[in-house]
This record gives sequence, structure tokens and C-alpha cells, in this order.
Amino acid sequence: MSNLDREAVPALCGGRGFVVAEPVRELLSPRRVKLGESSEVRRLLPNLGRRMVGAWCFVDHYGPDDIAEEPGMQVPPHPHMGLQTVSWLHEGEVLHRDSTGSLQTIRPRELGLMTSGRAISHSEESPRSHARFLHGAQLWVALPDSDRHTDPRFEHHSELPVVTAPGLRATIVLGGVDGAASPGTTYTPIVGADLALVQGADVRLPLEPDFEYAVLSMSGEAHVDGVPLLPGSMLYLGCGRTELPLRAESDAGLMLLGGEPFDEELVMWWNFIGRSNEDIAQARSDWMESSRFGEVKGYDGNRLDAPNLPPGPLKARGRVR
Ligand code: MN
Repeated sequence: MSNLDREAVPALCGGRGFVVAEPVRELLSPRRVKLGESSEVRRLLPNLGRRMVGAWCFVDHYGPDDIAEEPGMQVPPHPHMGLQTVSWLHEGEVLHRDSTGSLQTIRPRELGLMTSGRAISHSEESPRSHARFLHGAQLWVALPDSDRHTDPRFEHHSELPVVTAPGLRATIVLGGVDGAASPGTTYTPIVGADLALVQGADVRLPLEPDFEYAVLSMSGEAHVDGVPLLPGSMLYLGCGRTELPLRAESDAGLMLLGGEPFDEELVMWWNFIGRSNEDIAQARSDWMESSRFGEVKGYDGNRLDAPNLPPGPLKARGRVR
């Protein structure tokens, strides 16, 4: 999906100054963002309270939306730079096209992983004939400076490793949990896992003390480290944990996001991640001049124009969380 915000404001992210070195329980409220005319997403990252969790720098939760009588998701071709996108569905399906020639339908609990590297463009749409409900998350992972100019590529992994415990089924999206590792390519120490809990589950999930973590709730009612978490909200957990207590009041769907705190400071604007104002301005003008980002073939509609850059140079907004 895309950041369709027409009032896109640059955000400075990253750097260890943001990271909490000890276990905390910080509840992050979503910001409601309109996507197109009818649909709305809940944006958890970047958040006024927190910009990143490891290399995870963008988290939108959407649905479940009844799209039986509607076209559903229709995100026209748009560019990305300096990041990976993770498409994760609980219900429905998304047809992905990109400028490397990919044409892939992504289904629930399959990983659609797009590495933009220096430049890619893509579109995402509900197939013409689609399931009644659409429910998922769109996440971005920042690429480190050493890899942000890499070649663009798209991976689709329909078979992901699963770790189970009584009442818990954890699908490993990126990185590893308890010895099971996702086949998805990663560029920093990171983890993403889908946690399906059965009502009454009371389990402890092993964690890496050097990682910072957050848990996004997608459905049901669960307690994460004792904190009740409702769908569309996220709990930031800090670092220094070796395990995470999870309890389910009803069947519940959570996403665990974590990673080594992201050291580098970066500039995030619209669908781009760079290291400077110049990076961002260059990417914007390349997209508007139809260079560098390639072409998405087969999408029935126009591509997205970039919003205007705010006047004046990007200014450091300090370490305000
Ligand atoms: Mn996108």
C-alpha cells in the first residue's frame, strides 16, 4: 500500500536516542488516515509517541472491511525508495504488480515482501472477483545505508515456518522466533511474527533481550504483558526482555514486531526513505519525470502524483517522541 497522505510531512526517524533500554509498556494509539474515498486505515507507525521499532518504520492496520459490493483496495502505481514493504493479510487477497515485472496475488498468511532498494514502483488492488472481507497490515522496514541502493526485487513466500505452543500458533514473517526462521530477505537483525491465540491461551513467547519490541493487535482481546490490547492499537515493549507473557480473553490475532534498535538517522517523506533533503527531493522529481522508478504494467488507471514538498529545507525536529 501507499502513503496516500496529501499533506505528507517529513519525519526524522532512527537513532538510539529514541530507544527505551529497559522493558516498558507504552500504549500507542492509532491515527486514522483516509485511503481513497471509502476506506480508512489505522496508522501506528510513525506515531507521535514513537517513530520506529527496530527497522520497522511504518505500520498501517486496515479492516476488516466488507467489500462485497465495492472495488476494495485500489492503490495506483507509486514509487518507493530505501525500504522494504511487507503485505500481511488475515482476510481477502491483494493483487500486486511492480516495475520488476511481478504479478502476484497475496493471500492470508502469505508473505509479500518487496525490497525497493534504490527505486521501484508498484500497484496494489483487490482482484475484480474477491472475498467479502479485507483485513490486513501494511508494514515498512527501513534499509540500512549499506543496502539502500540495492537492486529492487519482490519475494512471495506462501510457506512460512510455524511455531506452536498450547493455544498459540506463531507464523514467522521475517527473522526468527525460537529457532524457526522466515525465508524472507532481511538487511538488519529484525523479527516479525503473526500470533494466532486461541481463547484461554496463556503462554510465554521467547524474546531477544537486545531487540526492542512492539505488539500490534489485529483482532480479538488479548493481554500482552498484562496490558489489555484492543484491535488497531499497539503496545511498545522496549528492550531487555527474554520472554513475553500473552493471554487471550477471546480468539485473538496479534503481530509481534521487533529488531535491533536502528542506529542510523533517516528522513522519511511520502513513500521514500533517504538520508537527506536532497535524497528526497531527487526521488520526488525522478518519479514526476518518469525516470528511475520503472513502469508498472497492466494496472487499469493512472499512476499517483507525488504531493508537494513542504517549503524550505527539512529541519531536524529533535528527539521529541
Ligand atoms: Mn506501496
